[in-house]
Amino acid sequence: MAIGAGGFRIGLDDTDAASGLCTTWLGAVLAERLESRDFLVRERRLVRLNPNAPFRTRGNAAIAILADGDPGEAFRVACALVEEHAPLDAPMTNPGVVVTEHPLPPAFYTRAVTDLCLVDEALRALDAAGARYRGYGNGRGLIGATAAAAAEFPDHTYELLVYREPARWGTPREVDPTSLFAAEAATAPHTWDSVDRENRVVVCVPHTPDPVLFGIRGESPYWVRQARELVVAEPAALEACWVTNQGTDAHLVRGTCGALHEGRSYTVAGTISSLPSTGEGGHVTLLIEDGGEQLRCMAYEPTKGFREGVRALRPGDRVIACGSFRHGSLNLEKLCVVSIAEAVALRPPPCPSCGKRTTSAGTGKGFKCRRCGARTIHPERAVEERSIGPGWYEVPPVARRHLARPLCRGPPELVLDEDL
Ligand code: ZN
Repeated sequence: MAIGAGGFRIGLDDTDAASGLCTTWLGAVLAERLESRDFLVRERRLVRLNPNAPFRTRGNAAIAILADGDPGEAFRVACALVEEHAPLDAPMTNPGVVVTEHPLPPAFYTRAVTDLCLVDEALRALDAAGARYRGYGNGRGLIGATAAAAAEFPDHTYELLVYREPARWGTPREVDPTSLFAAEAATAPHTWDSVDRENRVVVCVPHTPDPVLFGIRGESPYWVRQARELVVAEPAALEACWVTNQGTDAHLVRGTCGALHEGRSYTVAGTISSLPSTGEGGHVTLLIEDGGEQLRCMAYEPTKGFREGVRALRPGDRVIACGSFRHGSLNLEKLCVVSIAEAVALRPPPCPSCGKRTTSAGTGKGFKCRRCGARTIHPERAVEERSIGPGWYEVPPVARRHLARPLCRGPPELVLDEDL
């Protein structure tokens, strides 16, 4: 079955280099070039892939363009553009270009966003679909290009990316932060992550030397354009509104304690089994347990205020933790507190004869009153007043990963009633 009479998809990946030419910019230029040659460009897709994949490009982004016209000509235009712009001599730049008139297996995309795919697997899928393709360097970019062209999004959001004039690349960006805060205030919760209001920082303006000036993320083309209109910034050379899997939790799969794989991202249900501890650099560690298996969860320093919620957890609390499993830990992106346990602390009791607070008489020796010398055996059970209640908690925008669904879009769909 063809994608539609005259219809085809282009996939493009790994045109980034250390110098920071970004794949989405090349995709935006390609879409314009196709339109100038009378192609009908139906959709621009920004496809984020597994953020933990080794050899990933920064942000692990690939793009797809859905268009009508002559696929052979589109392939020649795309390859010429890559050869013109991508630094093909850079060892970490291995672009892939795919043009297909027939559908590629959506499962290839699903695996590339939740797990890992190999170049050989991409080649098999491309050959089976009779696709045109070219891999440069070691050809690794064909994985992302194939995944992008194969992608079907069960859920999607939008990002309006604004690109700089080439003469300004590498120079400081001129974007008025006050206007970004105003744009978010006027359009939230329909847009998100332009700024981090709690931490008072701008999130949507990169610091890398790539062509992106800023990007507005939101639920519809209407809302991202509304926000963009309010941003005061240097003149832009190009803008593109991308349909994207960002903010959809596409990277998360259901997992269980003791059965997680390195480099994948999960939702895991469990019961807190240790007091949270804060280590060097402000990283918070805690253990959850399920079915006799323990899982270490981490909330790193850049997650800022999110760590307060994590520190407020106590053994016995039931949670659902979401994040990437790396180096044996689940790095928390968000967390649902399902139920709160009664947190009991033991402390020396009041003296049975004079009422003054006793002190410990030593391990296993009970408690002794320093005023009158009376002794008592049993400690006092003090019920801790909890500072956290059931509900969802998430890292702030400044620490959010591209794929992580912000809570303003609702809780993850992957979480089932049986977990709650
Ligand atoms: Zn006493």
